[in-house]
Amino acid sequence: MKKFLKGCILSSALLCCALPAHAEWVRRITDGIMGTRITVELWADDQAKGDRGIDAVLQEMRHIDDSMSTYKPTSEVSQVNARAAEGPMHISKELFDLLTTALEYSVITEGAFDITYASVGYLYDFRKHVRPDDAQIARALPAVNYRHVILDPKNQTVQFSQKGVRIDLGGIAKGYSVDRGIEVLKSLGFTRAYVGAGGDSRIIGDRFGQPWIVGIRDPTKGEGNVIARIPLVDAAISTSGDYERFFEEKGVRYHHIIDPHTGHSASKVRSATIIGPFATRTDGLSKTAFVLGPDKAMEIYNRLDDIDAIIVKLDGTVMHSNGMQKAKPAGAQ
Ligand code: ADP
Ligand code: MG
Repeated sequence: MKKFLKGCILSSALLCCALPAHAEWVRRITDGIMGTRITVELWADDQAKGDRGIDAVLQEMRHIDDSMSTYKPTSEVSQVNARAAEGPMHISKELFDLLTTALEYSVITEGAFDITYASVGYLYDFRKHVRPDDAQIARALPAVNYRHVILDPKNQTVQFSQKGVRIDLGGIAKGYSVDRGIEVLKSLGFTRAYVGAGGDSRIIGDRFGQPWIVGIRDPTKGEGNVIARIPLVDAAISTSGDYERFFEEKGVRYHHIIDPHTGHSASKVRSATIIGPFATRTDGLSKTAFVLGPDKAMEIYNRLDDIDAIIVKLDGTVMHSNGMQKAKPAGAQ
């Protein structure tokens, strides 16, 4: 059992304990940054201090959105997409480091996680029910390969090895922004906090002797139904689901995780939840099961010492990583 998984998987939890006087839990939910819902909850000496901490987290997330969103033509990532095929382009240390991490995840996931998915991904618009036809996919697909992204650490530059390559950090940026939010809170002295952005969350500290409880949605049912409640302390958790951004046409579900090998929606599982130390990492790994399928993906997750996983397969059955199986109470399925 990984150290951040506390006890067994709970079906319900009672959170009550003796709390220090004056201080309080401060919680805020904000919509509209990175196109998702941000939740911050922390233990603060008083409300005003707590609000300042939350403001600092949101400011950091707005900065990440401004520099990494492909919806913003002025963002650094949009500039890279416009110019990096022409030659080496100097980029910020922050973007360089995140691109380095993204390419590492491509290697770990045997190409399932690939930020150049966007070379075909940009042809989809899930809100408007737009998808490319086979000929468009065939034309765009040669540009999808993380090896086309050439990083030079000495000069801090990025270059695309051919025209048509586009990158999108949508598969890692929310997790990264959660990690940055936690770092901001730590630097301000907060020791108990939850930061969540869409399907990606991270927790520091506990709730005075109790773990935080994070529910995993049942992808076969509507919002509010959970398959498990996971007790966590000092951990990150990310869930990817085929219900997040999708449309259906003639019985086929087109959704926002793209198989880099085919250019089509990757539909080999219903959802994947990853638990680990950092949200950047759990976010980066949660797409893999959709592309590689449950067995191959679980093999990879089980190989990684700091990672646990829960996969909901297409038939609705649930698969746990080795570490989670040890965490289950005796007699549980
Ligand atoms: P959310 O955006 O709600 O956090 P996910 O964590 O499941 O959802 O990430 C889905 C996003 O990942 C997509 O919207 C897209 O930006 C990006 N993406 C899609 N396919 C891939 C892929 N094969 N590799 C890397 N990123 C991907
Ligand atoms: Mg995510």
